[in-house]
Amino acid sequence: MSLVKNLEKILNEIPGHVRLCAVSKTKPVEMIQELYQAGQLDFGENKVQEMTDKSTLLPSDIHWHQIGTLQRNKVKYLASYVHLIHSIDSLKLLKEVQKEAEKNERTIDVLLQMHIAEEETKFGLDRSELENLLTSPELANMTHIRIRGLMGMATFTQNTAQIAREFGELKKRYDELQSHYPDSSNIQIDTLSMGMSGDYTIAIDQGSNLIRVGSAIFGERIYN
Ligand SMILES: *Cc1c(COP(=O)(O)O)cnc(C)c1O
Repeated sequence: MSLVKNLEKILNEIPGHVRLCAVSKTKPVEMIQELYQAGQLDFGENKVQEMTDKSTLLPSDIHWHQIGTLQRNKVKYLASYVHLIHSIDSLKLLKEVQKEAEKNERTIDVLLQMHIAEEETKFGLDRSELENLLTSPELANMTHIRIRGLMGMATFTQNTAQIAREFGELKKRYDELQSHYPDSSNIQIDTLSMGMSGDYTIAIDQGSNLIRVGSAIFGERIYN
């Protein structure tokens, strides 16, 4: 199947309110270009260097999503162009994004990455860390970031009941966030990023409105 057919198959499957971020990490710019020409604007990468290199070679109206762990010393490289950072996991990192966004005279949209997997290996905030971040007095001074919602990854397992349970937990956190934090200048909760190639249908059933799909569009990734 062609890339564009893979894309269209997924777009036909998912409800209209769900956005699709095509995860293009390790894949060449030619492939991204092909999907862009078919109308796909949102692309996700997990390495800042790779995303920055690609962004300079591709059309400027592409929306670049940072989906991987982000080191503070890399924020300056993506601050001028990134569309959405999915992987904020500390107040320190958020402060750095604020600082670099201000330098670039723009507002950067971010998601807070939550630890939802029952397995230990996945990154993210737990419930009390989320609470601490959102109630930090420093947040009020962060006028160049906007918290748009949450992101999470389920355990890598064949157990669909477990995946559904983990995504369901994240949706619960998201709903609490929406009801406890009414829209302010830098908190506007409307995005729940969950679901990848293997589990996006479960994620959508559980309330996702942004899925991050790589291999189901681009084929398997080869790392070397
Ligand atoms: C690689 C990656 C994806 C996409 O994974 P696929 O299984 O190829 O769809 C989604 N989210 C994150 C955070 C990733 O690192």
